[in-house]
Amino acid sequence: MENSVKDIIIGGGVSGLSFARFDEGHEYLVLEKDSSIGGYARTTKRNGFVWDYSGHFFHFQDPEIEKMVAENMCSDDILTISKTTHIKYKDRLIDFPFQKNIHQLQQDEFIDCLYDLFTAPKDAYQTFKEMLYSKFGRSIAEKFLIPYNSKLYACDLDRLDKDAMGRFFPYASPEEIVRNFRNQNNTSYNGSFEYPKGGAIEYVNSISSGIIQSNIITNTKVTAINPQSHTVTLDNGKTLNYARLISTIPFVKMMDMTGMDFDKDAFTWNKVLVFNLGFERKGPNTSDHWIYFPEGCYCFYRVGFYDNILGQDRMSLYVELGFDKDATIDADNLLDRVLSDLKTAGILQDDNRLVDHEVILMDPAYVHINNRSQQHVAQLKSILAAHDIYSIGRYGSWTYCSIEDNIKEARTLAQTINKKH
Ligand SMILES: Cc1cc2nc3c(=O)[nH]c(=O)nc-3n(C[C@H](O)[C@H](O)[C@H](O)COP(=O)(O)OP(=O)(O)OC[C@H]3O[C@@H](n4cnc5c(N)ncnc54)[C@H](O)[C@@H]3O)c2cc1C
Repeated sequence: MENSVKDIIIGGGVSGLSFARFDEGHEYLVLEKDSSIGGYARTTKRNGFVWDYSGHFFHFQDPEIEKMVAENMCSDDILTISKTTHIKYKDRLIDFPFQKNIHQLQQDEFIDCLYDLFTAPKDAYQTFKEMLYSKFGRSIAEKFLIPYNSKLYACDLDRLDKDAMGRFFPYASPEEIVRNFRNQNNTSYNGSFEYPKGGAIEYVNSISSGIIQSNIITNTKVTAINPQSHTVTLDNGKTLNYARLISTIPFVKMMDMTGMDFDKDAFTWNKVLVFNLGFERKGPNTSDHWIYFPEGCYCFYRVGFYDNILGQDRMSLYVELGFDKDATIDADNLLDRVLSDLKTAGILQDDNRLVDHEVILMDPAYVHINNRSQQHVAQLKSILAAHDIYSIGRYGSWTYCSIEDNIKEARTLAQTINKKH
């Protein structure tokens, strides 16, 4: 490792690797704290099971990016799946999104939802929770949208901005909702998706194949950043000089490392605990790709079926639980609760044995997007840019986005700053 490198990239996830890929003609070094690349887009392959960190599915909109991520794969290696998803609501399975399928509820609940939809006070709204009440009315909000999202974000939804989920939120007007009673159209941004047979890591490997491999240094953690001297300190005690620093680690952690003053309280997030579970045979559900669980009697908010995506003959699940950022989590004890709740939900039968499992903590997982945090990130990013520090990625930009968005952001940054230098 040279003591002086033009571009130092912190993090070997999709954002860091993509930046390196687009940083053509420049000298760069990717520093990754873990023993392998991929960040949250890693995959575990074990005992015939293929498990992402949490189900990662892809819906590319930019042909250049789609070509790049599949560069070294043949088309047979990538599945295109038409999504089948449901919401477990009381004793039935309702099509997703809930708000467009209220006609599948019991009649009295359906009437409540419909009445409230058309009589909701159209007050101005600021927070995510207020938006839900205003756009969908009390019943839709309180039966699904609030309990489900509160479980996922692990916070009061008043803490989130009205547009916290951006294009990922399935908005529907009252007219669209009524039209759906007769002409079912549940399309969403991910109505169909691509998934590599070898898991999300295959796309990461494809991005990485365009990078000089000796410029990716794993097992190397950045512990401090000195914006004045343009240096980073590593956990092995070494110091490296950079001309430009591209950070893809969580914004709050990066700010802490610089020693600069910032309003830490503006930043909150959830943690997601993921149980990847492999069973000895297939379960009764042979069609769903994932199911949403709004009710508090289930500890999880979503369960996904890798076996139904990959066409496997043994049930292979990811189970996601949301927690506050400061929660203490006892994953070992939670496994029994997860298995018991899967039985209650009818997903797991008593005689189907768990043959392998792993537990992964995503921390942060979903950041709490609000005006305060967004303004702060924008202001601090411009101060950092004056020191040649650029923070990108889902957590570096403190946002809600897909892997394709990460690649686009990395491409835009490389094009912009390479024009200047
Ligand atoms: C539950 C969940 C489900 C998701 N599902 C999808 C999906 O279906 N489709 C989709 O497109 N996207 C999905 N995403 C989003 C996707 O995971 C992210 O957008 C993407 O992985 C972010 O990549 P990144 O490189 O920005 O960050 P990360 O993947 O977090 O990469 C950052 C890297 O930095 C490294 N690092 C951290 N600190 C240091 C340090 N001090 N020194 C050196 N290295 C360090 C980390 O080890 C990591 O490898 C999902 C996210 C979550 C939480």
